[in-house]
Amino acid sequence: MTAATVESMLTPAGRFAPSPSGDLHIGNVRTGILAYLWAVTTSRAFRWRDEDLDRVQEGAADRQLAQFRALGVTIDGPVVQQSTRTGLYEAACERLEARGLVYECYCSRRDILAAPSAPHAPPGAYPGTCRDLTDSAREAARDRLHASGRAPALRLAADARDCSIEDVLLGTVTAHVDDLVLRRGDGVWAYNLAVVVDDGDMGIDQVVRGDDLASSAPRQAHLARLLGLPVPEYVHVPLVLSPTGARLAKRDGAVTISQLAQHDFDLWRWMGESLGFGPWTSLEDAVAGFDPAGMTRDAAVFDAPPISDGA
Ligand code: GLU
Repeated sequence: MTAATVESMLTPAGRFAPSPSGDLHIGNVRTGILAYLWAVTTSRAFRWRDEDLDRVQEGAADRQLAQFRALGVTIDGPVVQQSTRTGLYEAACERLEARGLVYECYCSRRDILAAPSAPHAPPGAYPGTCRDLTDSAREAARDRLHASGRAPALRLAADARDCSIEDVLLGTVTAHVDDLVLRRGDGVWAYNLAVVVDDGDMGIDQVVRGDDLASSAPRQAHLARLLGLPVPEYVHVPLVLSPTGARLAKRDGAVTISQLAQHDFDLWRWMGESLGFGPWTSLEDAVAGFDPAGMTRDAAVFDAPPISDGA
């Protein structure tokens, strides 16, 4: 049992789980603040997890956390780093394996695109090529893969089904659950497995995150049920877009908190207004003024100022 587990038994909790691949932009910050507001206004603890299994930029995790602390956010319990928890993912995978729900997959991305899709499966879903191979075909595929310097991925035998979750803002979200990857060919544990194991272990019963992840929630709920973990409440919140309607990105201009500080950007004012509440002045003001029922359901548009020298 981890330290997170012991504490998680005491209180229901929400969380923010950024990937430390760089500085957070204003859209990520808005999502994290919403996760905090949702948690504290529903009497939950607020936990923090670095999703640092992949694409880590040196120092980014510390900077992300420092920025939230500078905004007044307090984190309950230990900051959790996925990179230190691979034993938990392995144990979860073994539990699935013991039930015959895990198989090796030797397909490359190109193999998957070239394979005919399974009946009723949406484009891009894994067609199950490696699910029912004979032992000798498996042996041959493994040898071929090793010869090219690669290792097999591990997939969940999901039985190709549609799953649904109830989202607080979006209502019923249904998605096809294919044989998702549990461990990638490069040995990295997959996001979908890690997120489910960690939310379960950290006692997270409320997941607030960007609505670009809404379509992943049904597969995560399916995995949680298979692992005997409770399915959290899901709240997928609207994203912040650039004026062209694309997801906000670094190339749009000054989008990180430190870049925006060069422009005297009033973060709390923008945050409150972009969510439809009128200007906020501080985190305390946001907590007092936050009301999910009054929150705009539309994506916000952010017209980023140009990056100043030295920002
Ligand atoms: N690490 C993911 C991201 O930064 C969020 C995952 C989640 O909240 O489930 O987009």
